Amino acid sequence: LKVLEVDWQMKKINPKKLIVIKAGSSLTTLSSGLPNLKFIKSISEQIFRLYKKGFHIVLVSSGAIAQGMKIWNLTSKPKSVDYLQALSASGQIGLINNYQKEFKRFNLIAAQVLLSHSDFGVKNRSENAKNSISNLIKLGAIPIVNENDSISTEEILNGDNDRLSGKVATLLNSKKLFILTDQNGLYDKNPDQNSDARLITKINLNNFDFKKVSFGKSGILGRGGMTTKIKAAKDFLNKTNEFWILNGNQEGIVEKAILKKPFGTKIYLA
Ligand code: GLU
Repeated sequence: LKVLEVDWQMKKINPKKLIVIKAGSSLTTLSSGLPNLKFIKSISEQIFRLYKKGFHIVLVSSGAIAQGMKIWNLTSKPKSVDYLQALSASGQIGLINNYQKEFKRFNLIAAQVLLSHSDFGVKNRSENAKNSISNLIKLGAIPIVNENDSISTEEILNGDNDRLSGKVATLLNSKKLFILTDQNGLYDKNPDQNSDARLITKINLNNFDFKKVSFGKSGILGRGGMTTKIKAAKDFLNKTNEFWILNGNQEGIVEKAILKKPFGTKIYLA
């Protein structure tokens, strides 16, 4: 067997430009269960523009289970682990294919990385994940991460991609983590039920009184909600990085936050 040596062109990673973007199921999937191709197109275009500006982007995307539900013609999310595993295994293919199709228009390479929360608790497994994701970035690919739901049992019920994105961003020493959702950010009360709900634009984790905020439940498709986003912020933040909750339906929203325009909720430690 002849082994072909490939001349890998490895880029250098500029640590200041490494960012993690997380897209929730409420964005990647329509309420009909069909993939939200408009969102996938617009986030792919945004990723391309950021990539051209020298950013290294890791995308954490939910939507496997939601897409699996459509394959099996389910209208509500099952509770049983067996079903959820089957849904995520079948739905993940469509999810990643949609990104790959859009990325191809820009000659961007999509690379799938499936991780389980327990990988982060085991040193050599988390190091392997870190090396593998870093190598993909050096090779110019965009890693697209999701939970490895089909091999986990406990986590498929309790895990969520908000916290996974916090763990991935911490592992990679990312400077910024952007959580994209279908709300404009964190409100003091649920904006869907209270017309006087106020958007909180800045939260310093060191002195913010969370008793002032009442969190809504997670959407019907995903597992998160504002509580898991705050937990992810607590896991990730130190004094040198930033965490944002942004509305992924707004065009170019990550680019706007990078330019420090006043959008969404910025969470930091000072
Ligand atoms: N990993 C799950 C999926 O892709 C979703 C987890 C979450 O909503 O946070 O369907």
